[in-house]
Amino acid sequence: MSNNKTAMHFDTKTIHSKPEGMDFSKAVNTPIFQSSTYEYGEKAEYDSIKYARLNNTPNHDVLHHMLTTLEEAESALVTSSGMSAISTTLLALLSQGDHLLVQSCIYGGTYGFITQDLPRFGITFDFFDAANAESLKSKMKKNTKAIYLESISNPMMRVPNFSSVIDFAKKNNLITLIDNTYTTPYNFKPAVAGIDVSLHSATKQLNGHSDIIAGAIIGKNQYLKPIGKMLNKLGGCLDTHACYLLERGLKTLGLRVRQQNQSALTIAEFLKEHSAVLGVNYPGLKSHPEHDLAKKLFVGFGGMLSFRLKGGISAAEKFVKNVKLALHAPSSGGVESLITLPAFTTHAFMTAESRNEIGITDDLIRLSVGLEDESDLLADLKNALEKI
Ligand SMILES: *Cc1c(COP(=O)(O)O)cnc(C)c1O
Repeated sequence: MSNNKTAMHFDTKTIHSKPEGMDFSKAVNTPIFQSSTYEYGEKAEYDSIKYARLNNTPNHDVLHHMLTTLEEAESALVTSSGMSAISTTLLALLSQGDHLLVQSCIYGGTYGFITQDLPRFGITFDFFDAANAESLKSKMKKNTKAIYLESISNPMMRVPNFSSVIDFAKKNNLITLIDNTYTTPYNFKPAVAGIDVSLHSATKQLNGHSDIIAGAIIGKNQYLKPIGKMLNKLGGCLDTHACYLLERGLKTLGLRVRQQNQSALTIAEFLKEHSAVLGVNYPGLKSHPEHDLAKKLFVGFGGMLSFRLKGGISAAEKFVKNVKLALHAPSSGGVESLITLPAFTTHAFMTAESRNEIGITDDLIRLSVGLEDESDLLADLKNALEKI
């Protein structure tokens, strides 16, 4: 293959971005390196001793290279889960006495870690409205160290006003962190937008097949170095079998995300017009409050949407039961469509009051659009709506 792989298009990079000098006896796929330890080379620092917990087997190296290339960043690490990527990053970059500014609607596990655990280490936080950068100013403190965002928030599908948040962060010397799970590097590249560190639940869209738990941290070397050292101590390494599956899943990322972008938009438009539907949250809809922003920033709007029915919680429960193709389960980004009521699954961490404040009512339905035929998905949703 030609040597200038960074100039290639996204789909080519997913197939061909292997680090130089890796041969693997000419195997087309990266074999699974089933060895916990490796013979000692020359004298090395602790973090470069070859040992699988230190995330440095050939399986890890290949993934780190792929993810760096796909997000056009400086470096990347894979981790044992999305929560491991998030908690390790926050623990590596924040210390006692620091303050964190957090977008007001985020993944439930992250919300739980920030609100229940960081304070035990003397790290305080405040939530802000990411669509309104003015709210950052009023929440900023002398000891604010970093800003935490989600590229499309879970499950309300809000989009932060990136340029003003990034400007604010640069002016005030704050580290910017973003959970890029819902957009994926296909739809959005945080490093290109000027964000310091991007985090992923690779369990979801990156792997795409609902068969592993994994995470990723991608970004600037100056932050990835200390995060890597913390990861080595906390031990959130990705097993090499899971590395192999993640690499395989990544090879079809562009294809999968393009289809999900298209099907989710069609479904969002269909739901919005349906008489039984109260409202739909999807950044691809013109009615979405940040539609123009999302259109400028993203290649596509992703496969995730949420909505409410006019019949409230009883209609929502009936609907979820009546849907046949979308399986009733949390998680997202897989080849199969998944449907869930976030108040009882992904966001059960929060109190009902905090959920209601940001719009996560008990009857909110979240749909992760899979790769089934679009017309079958539409027919199934239509049928389920007729039966409520
Ligand atoms: C699932 C998810 C996480 C947590 O990832 P795990 O792999 O389950 O640990 C974090 N952020 C978002 C947006 C998610 O959907």
